[in-house]
Amino acid sequence: MLKLEGVSLSYGSFRALDQVSLHADKGELVVLLGANGAGKSSIFMAISGIHKACSGSIAFDGQELVGMRPAAIVAQGVVHCPEGRKLFAQMSVQQNLMLGAYVHRNAPDTRARSQQILDEVYTLFPILAQKRHDPAGALSGGQQQMVAIGRALMGRPKALLLDEPSLGLAPLVVKQMFEIIQQINASGVTVLLAEQNAYSALRIAHRAYVLERGRIVMEGLPEQLLHDEGIRKAYIGA
Ligand code: ATP
Repeated sequence: MLKLEGVSLSYGSFRALDQVSLHADKGELVVLLGANGAGKSSIFMAISGIHKACSGSIAFDGQELVGMRPAAIVAQGVVHCPEGRKLFAQMSVQQNLMLGAYVHRNAPDTRARSQQILDEVYTLFPILAQKRHDPAGALSGGQQQMVAIGRALMGRPKALLLDEPSLGLAPLVVKQMFEIIQQINASGVTVLLAEQNAYSALRIAHRAYVLERGRIVMEGLPEQLLHDEGIRKAYIGA
């Protein structure tokens, strides 16, 4: 299980996260809602060690992550799929995917293991198998998001941090993306999902948190949040 307790994070003198506490149990799909700039990405940066929390604790399966290097955090099974995909546009789809297998480089069966996970990723995303030799930058937005998620899956995550996977995608592709996330979660991967697409995210979530200006202001079951007037007004609309 992933547990944050009293996590604060600052960029210079600006406090982006203020005493954030949240958790995701093993196998849960937990959604983080919040407007632009609320601090969702900062929570992921703190968990994955890209920006160090200045106070508080982040534990995964009882192991403290604060102070660990990002690569060591990935090796623990916590993998971050960043907002904006961050692909290498000139490299092929398969080369991008294989970057996610870096974590297995010292395993005795590194080649076989990477190949097996690659096959699993291609089974989940058959279109990527077809386009494996194409430059990632030539793919559609939805397909690029698949590459980003696939690359994260190459690390064999126990917990997957998905930052705004539906951003900029057409409604039909968004629907497909949420189905895939649900499928990944059903395979046993704990998912922490940051989304602005609150309605779709809450429909697949087990639990959710609402973040405002770096603080958790609400926590609840999806049905509670979907029926909360303030949440509906702020994140869902009519
Ligand atoms: P978005 O969806 O727009 O990315 P978010 O909820 O993920 O929003 P964060 O990206 O975590 O929010 O940003 C939280 C706050 O921290 C914002 O006010 C943002 O401007 C600020 N911030 C984020 N990264 C940095 C940085 N590297 N340096 C300074 N300020 C930053």
